[in-house]
Amino acid sequence: MKITAIRAYALNITASLDITAETKTASHQLCVVEIDTDEGITGHGLSSIGPAVPIKAAVLSVAAPELMGADPLRHEQIWDMLYWQLVPRGQSGVGMHAIAAIDIALWDIKGKYFGQPIYRLLGGAREKCPVYATFGFGFYRTEELAEAARNWQKRGFHRLKMTVGNQALKRRDEPRLLSDVIAEDAERVKTVRDAAGHDAELFIDANCSLDLFHARALCQMIEPYHIEFFEEPITQNDVRQMADLRSQTSIRLACGQNEAQAYRFRDMLISGAVDIIQPNVAITGGFTQCQKIAALAASFNISVDNGGAWPFVNQHLQAGVSNGGLVEFHYSSVEVCKQIYTGLTEPKDGWLKMTDRPGLGFDLNYDALGQFEIKQP
Ligand SMILES: [Mg+2]
Repeated sequence: MKITAIRAYALNITASLDITAETKTASHQLCVVEIDTDEGITGHGLSSIGPAVPIKAAVLSVAAPELMGADPLRHEQIWDMLYWQLVPRGQSGVGMHAIAAIDIALWDIKGKYFGQPIYRLLGGAREKCPVYATFGFGFYRTEELAEAARNWQKRGFHRLKMTVGNQALKRRDEPRLLSDVIAEDAERVKTVRDAAGHDAELFIDANCSLDLFHARALCQMIEPYHIEFFEEPITQNDVRQMADLRSQTSIRLACGQNEAQAYRFRDMLISGAVDIIQPNVAITGGFTQCQKIAALAASFNISVDNGGAWPFVNQHLQAGVSNGGLVEFHYSSVEVCKQIYTGLTEPKDGWLKMTDRPGLGFDLNYDALGQFEIKQP
């Protein structure tokens, strides 16, 4: 089998969020890649939480010429070739996003070729994954957070994740004191805990928006509210500071969704910086690399959970490897996916069941893609 064509789309898609009385919107940029083969099989992949237009350019101008004529089943050979083309000195960023989207498309082809879903090709550790709903975005007022939490519970979700930190470091110039941000966070966490009750599992995510001092202070304030894990508490996932924080709080720490290279996970694990790692297939170099990172974590007796959204891709990693775990049913990204994909699965009673459909198991909605393409000057 040979690769015969590569297409890429830079998309900006707005999701409508109607879980509260007042409907909100949230936008995501993503780059979708399609790869055709001479056997009539086409695979698709995506990358996100990066600028879609330059990721598309990296796919089409740097990767595509090298991919033409290659055997799509040789994912290891192709991954290594793309590494040396796009990020030859261990860089992260746009080049690694491009590799992630291409690698996912190759695994979609592989699954379709062998008639197997990707999670089974990765090892098929389980048939269904526990999910958590990421619902508590910064744009909700505190009382809306409580309303949203209760409504997610009515939909059968009892694991709930909310954001904290509210872009604290990014917006220091407003000026805006980090101490005020975390004081408000503590109030918001208490409000959600009171609204959701003690049966709910509550997770928080600072999206790398705090420094060590304020992350630690926030942990101290919210420890009574039984937090399952604190995701990306510290800017840049600073490994030394994460290890410090972990030694000073009873809350489990998690991160990794925006990391590109495997060595970063090695450093986190050796330093004792994390309780859980979160490589994201759509960001951390696709299935080829995330499988290796999961194996690395297994050697440290550490589990893998999904952070960074895109559950329909990441569920294959979480179901495929034995130390996989939670899938993130990220509200706005799910609503984005519903606009460009068909055949998506729905979680039920807190679980997302895997299907027998080959490859990723869902398809691109070609008619919808055009309306979301980012117009370039
Ligand atoms: Mg996150």
